Amino acid sequence: MATGKINVSVENIFPLIKKFLYSDHEIFLRELISNATDATLKLKHLTDIGETDVKYGNPVIEVKVDKEGKKLHVIDQGVGMTKEEVEKYINEVAFSGAEEFLEKYKDSAKDSGIIGHFGLGFYSAFMVANKVEIITKSYKDDPAAHWVCEGTTEFTLGDADKKERGTEIILHINEEDEEFLEENRIQELLVKYNKFMPIPIKFGTKEETLPLPEDAPEDAEAETKTVDNIINNPEPAWTKQPTDLEDKDYKSFYRELYPMQFEEPLFHIHLNVDYPFNLTGILYFPKMTQDMNIQKDKIQLYQNQVYVTDNVEGIVPEFLTMLRGVIDSPDIPLNVSRSYLQADGAVKKISSYITRKVADKLKSLFNNNREDFEQKWNDIKIVIEYGMLSEDKFYEKAQKFALYPTVENEYFTFEELQEKIKDNQTDKDGNLVVLYASNQDEQHSYVEAAKAKGYKVLLLDSPIISHLLQKMEGEKEKITFVRVDSDQVDNLIKKDEEKISKLSDEEKEKLKGDFEKVIPKEKYTVQLEAMDSDAAPLLITQPEFMRRMKEMQQTGGGGMFGMGNMPEMYNLVVNTNHPLISDILNTKTEKKQERLIKHSLDLARLSQNLLKGEELTNFVKRSFDMVK
Ligand code: ADP
Ligand code: MG
Repeated sequence: MATGKINVSVENIFPLIKKFLYSDHEIFLRELISNATDATLKLKHLTDIGETDVKYGNPVIEVKVDKEGKKLHVIDQGVGMTKEEVEKYINEVAFSGAEEFLEKYKDSAKDSGIIGHFGLGFYSAFMVANKVEIITKSYKDDPAAHWVCEGTTEFTLGDADKKERGTEIILHINEEDEEFLEENRIQELLVKYNKFMPIPIKFGTKEETLPLPEDAPEDAEAETKTVDNIINNPEPAWTKQPTDLEDKDYKSFYRELYPMQFEEPLFHIHLNVDYPFNLTGILYFPKMTQDMNIQKDKIQLYQNQVYVTDNVEGIVPEFLTMLRGVIDSPDIPLNVSRSYLQADGAVKKISSYITRKVADKLKSLFNNNREDFEQKWNDIKIVIEYGMLSEDKFYEKAQKFALYPTVENEYFTFEELQEKIKDNQTDKDGNLVVLYASNQDEQHSYVEAAKAKGYKVLLLDSPIISHLLQKMEGEKEKITFVRVDSDQVDNLIKKDEEKISKLSDEEKEKLKGDFEKVIPKEKYTVQLEAMDSDAAPLLITQPEFMRRMKEMQQTGGGGMFGMGNMPEMYNLVVNTNHPLISDILNTKTEKKQERLIKHSLDLARLSQNLLKGEELTNFVKRSFDMVK
């Protein structure tokens, strides 16, 4: 048996790096500015710890487009490089000077914000340039160096006459990448990736309108002044301590993040951990719209203030992806596939930390100002209910702040609700029966009937509510949820006295037969019930179970296999104490009886919104004929 070493030659790897290292060509600029930022932060660190006595000053990074010369320049005033350093850091692919720096200054530099990692970023320049030059002068007393490479493994390294400290990178842009010579395109990229980077970035100049003096005449024209166009806010709110920020600071940062959002956020959550992982950020609860698809302003992910992506799937628990804001963590591995990411231990911890923080914040909002929390409930419930459904930890925590509003605008926690209904809403097995409506208008008569009996009716109208109720019935003991228009309401709740039917047993049997002759069996189950004589003569209800399963199917019910297309099944409840029902029973001719039953059924269907299309047209026509 032979053993050996696989020989990887740079000539083969280089084109691969250029082509496939990054899927997006545009990130080259982010990489170069990250390097310029690192070089500046390194200098800051070295002056801070007294390792050099050069003046740090107020360094800026400058980006310049030379459209005619087809060149793009990135210039910094950072540490620069000596010739030897260029040999070491640039010519050795996949050797990271950033890592080396962090290693060397371990403890003191861990918070310096150095970005680089893999020693590959610089080479992304070759995705858009056929020739790259580096002109660099170290902060040390060495002559400047000039490195030139045309995208092969050959390079030249000579002297340069650069006097000022720092590095200038010059990209000779490819013909097919000339978009990167357009000022607008570069401005757009800088705003996208570098808007919150820690060192000021200058890109050209802009005109600024000066404020008019107070005593200026009405027709005075405002003067303008040419100023540097600084792209970034080097100290975004999330990098500050929560104690140093006021509510208005959070709001103005929200506007900075989403300039096109005119609606204010409902509240914010400041994230700030450094153990066992590093993470900072601010999440905002926006007003939720029912249509979750039009959400395009998403949570943005940063690493050391460099924008990475707005796809936070796997990092932020799914129910929180409806929120907005930023998360900044150097600890999220991004060079791996998304499916790996979800299995990564550190990322799992981050996700559960975020969940916990959100739950804690909601709880404190609830505790500190319940009234305000109740007012916001309808705008935030979707997120909370979805979280309760999908994350068990959150479900537990939410018991303390999740609200259950009634149709009369009272807001109870589940515990409070239980207390309210325990005396008159139980079934014969002692289970608590929680009544709810999903639409006050459509279920109006049922809501009124339940209220008249002294029952509390919740208003639960989120699209995912049937899933949540299903879960709650599973988790909580002795609770059953019943929608007001379901067949179980009257059967379920234990009544003190049974209503007595005016009809004899024979009469009841005949009545049932009469109805069943006329009404399609496969759609309706006829049930006789003795109710008040002024209650409705006929009532259509739908079994809670069946309706809920259907709803769950429509909203993507997990695990609802084989339920196929469930048939529409209803109960037709006949009130044996209603005078109309007596009339029907005593009608002489079969024809007339059939007409009465059909017309009454249509009326019952009409009141439930079940009469539609041709049937509705015929019903209206028939009714007109009757009045005429
Ligand atoms: P990384 O940033 O991950 O270390 P890069 O390929 O982006 O890797 O850069 C390689 C190294 O080249 C850097 O670590 C740094 O030492 C050096 N370098 C790149 N750009 C500059 C710059 N503008 N000023 C000083 N050094 C630089
Ligand atoms: Mg880098």
